[in-house]
Amino acid sequence: MKVIDHLNSANKTLVSFEILPPLKGKGINALWEHLDPLIEFKPSFINVTYHRSESMFKRKLDGTFDKVEVRKRPGTVGICAAIMNRYKVDAVAHLICGGFSKQETEDALIDLNFLGIDNVLVLRGDAPKNESFFEPEAGGHKYAIDLLQQVLNMNNGIYLEEDLKNAVKTNFCIGVAGYPEKHFESPNMQTDLSFLKAKVDAGAEYITTQMFFDNKNYFDFVKACRAYSINVPIIPGLKPVSSRKQLNVIPRTFHVDIPEELSNEILKCKTDADVEVVGTEWLLQQSKELIAGGVPVLHYYTLGKQHLVANVVKELI
Ligand code: FAD
Repeated sequence: MKVIDHLNSANKTLVSFEILPPLKGKGINALWEHLDPLIEFKPSFINVTYHRSESMFKRKLDGTFDKVEVRKRPGTVGICAAIMNRYKVDAVAHLICGGFSKQETEDALIDLNFLGIDNVLVLRGDAPKNESFFEPEAGGHKYAIDLLQQVLNMNNGIYLEEDLKNAVKTNFCIGVAGYPEKHFESPNMQTDLSFLKAKVDAGAEYITTQMFFDNKNYFDFVKACRAYSINVPIIPGLKPVSSRKQLNVIPRTFHVDIPEELSNEILKCKTDADVEVVGTEWLLQQSKELIAGGVPVLHYYTLGKQHLVANVVKELI
């Protein structure tokens, strides 16, 4: 079932989860250990992130270094299929522009279509860790909207090979990312919203947000979107803070604020176990307020903290 159909047929706030593929070398059991504790909460769908390769330097026998490309978390498409097969829960495959050519993207979309996976979240991706700015791959897309257009083309039977006749029309439901606190590269919120609107006008059926820790940011964002005639469902992305280090890592990595009230509580904690208690309680209160505010889905970034997310969700159902 498509995400948009889940949203349209829901009579209460739904729950969904987002996971990362296991690190290369780990088997599928790593994934089941992560997801098994969450399945009892009957998620409507599970998103699986997509990862580009990173450049690394490997020392050779003569002491010099070779630059090699390593993709640490491959397997998004296979994992989506495995989730649907094991749990009978819809999977949403993330697709990114960064590090992939249009041809590679087309191949991934064909695999998804063969596997009956009809949900994709299309994203640009970020610059590799050792580079400051995002650069598209040779023969790849520059912005998420360009990737979106490729998926829409395939939904209309238009593939990269122009002379392909009577090609199967795929049937993807397409989501895009939105940023309640603005995308960090955008000069201002209005400009960011104009590009978000372009993605929705082109055919994105819903928006999933970057994580936020102050619900006001989400509610203000939804209001701003509606004022901008962005009228698709906006799914809030949520994550528990689980260590003191994250007070700095989260703002630096995701370009979002941690409210003073939460950071003050975390600074009082003596151990990360104490931070987990504070982070879980904060997430629970955030979730309750969002449900009261009528959000369509609570989308939890589990990121290795499935037990904390489970502790929150079990209080809500
Ligand atoms: P875009 O929509 O392309 O926007 C990128 C920037 O360009 C913005 O500043 C925007 O305002 C601007 N812009 C857009 N269109 C134009 C235009 N035509 N001209 C000029 N400027 C423009 N990353 C991963 O690598 N893998 C994942 O699985 C992943 N999952 C994510 C899931 C969610 C819900 C979110 C919120 C983010 C995720 N990310 C993921 C991170 C994401 O790739 C980054 O935030 C990235 O920097 C932006 O992606 P985007 O799709 O929003 O890009």
